[in-house]
Amino acid sequence: MPSYVEPEKCDGCKGGDKTACMYICPNDLMVLNVEEMKAYNQEPDACWECYSCVKICPQGAIFVRGYDDFVPMGGQVHPMRSSDSIMWTVKFRNGNMKRFKFPIRTTAEGAANDYAGERGANLDDECLLLEADLPTPQKLA
Ligand code: SF4
Ligand code: SF4
Repeated sequence: MPSYVEPEKCDGCKGGDKTACMYICPNDLMVLNVEEMKAYNQEPDACWECYSCVKICPQGAIFVRGYDDFVPMGGQVHPMRSSDSIMWTVKFRNGNMKRFKFPIRTTAEGAANDYAGERGANLDDECLLLEADLPTPQKLA
């Protein structure tokens, strides 16, 4: 189910050209109403439900309505980040609550792509990227 923004919690990332949710959405769905300074999902039907916006929002203002097989009884799943872990809170419609805590990776932002410097570096080479570094296959006898 698509993500949605709780307007009372959203502060528009305190201004700026691009909010955190706009920055992270792989489908460019999040937009900011600059008059209200509130973000919203402009096309819920196209939402990938990837949770990226939910996890990055510094105000915890973005929610996703979970499917029944994932969150039964119309519950709600929401993450809360700390520096080294992420705590998922599952709230069930009957008031039950469960929490799960997982470590998060500590790779610095933007440092996850080992091949960033390689892009376009060998366009004239017939080999695929890093193919030349692979061990030569043994010849069949
Ligand atoms: Fe609002 Fe959160 Fe989006 Fe920032 S990241 S604009 S606080 S919904
Ligand atoms: Fe975009 Fe993913 Fe958020 Fe949907 S859940 S609005 S695809 S970041």
